[in-house]
Amino acid sequence: MAKLLTCAFCGKNEKQVARLLGGAQANICDDCVRSCVHILEQSPTKPSLGEDAVLESLAACDAAVDAARNVLQQRVEILRDRKISWDRIGKALGVSRQSAWERFS
Ligand SMILES: [Zn+2]
Repeated sequence: MAKLLTCAFCGKNEKQVARLLGGAQANICDDCVRSCVHILEQSPTKPSLGEDAVLESLAACDAAVDAARNVLQQRVEILRDRKISWDRIGKALGVSRQSAWERFS
């Protein structure tokens, strides 16, 4: 039986969560992404959020960025597999064909 993928943050496996996003180094589940978004929405300049809380949030934020970047890369690869042009991908991202190619190819 194949080993189940797990969220690097809460430890739940892919059958226990609604979505599990794959990052370059780790996976993260939808609940943990929501927690990260919640953390990110709190401005670190707010006096109520101490430096320890901000520091503790960094690893989760970094992993969320990694996971989102990985999803974006996978979607571009799906489009390229379907022979969608770099021009169309660039337009969808609001960048030039050249920029899209340099970033994702
Ligand atoms: Zn999780």
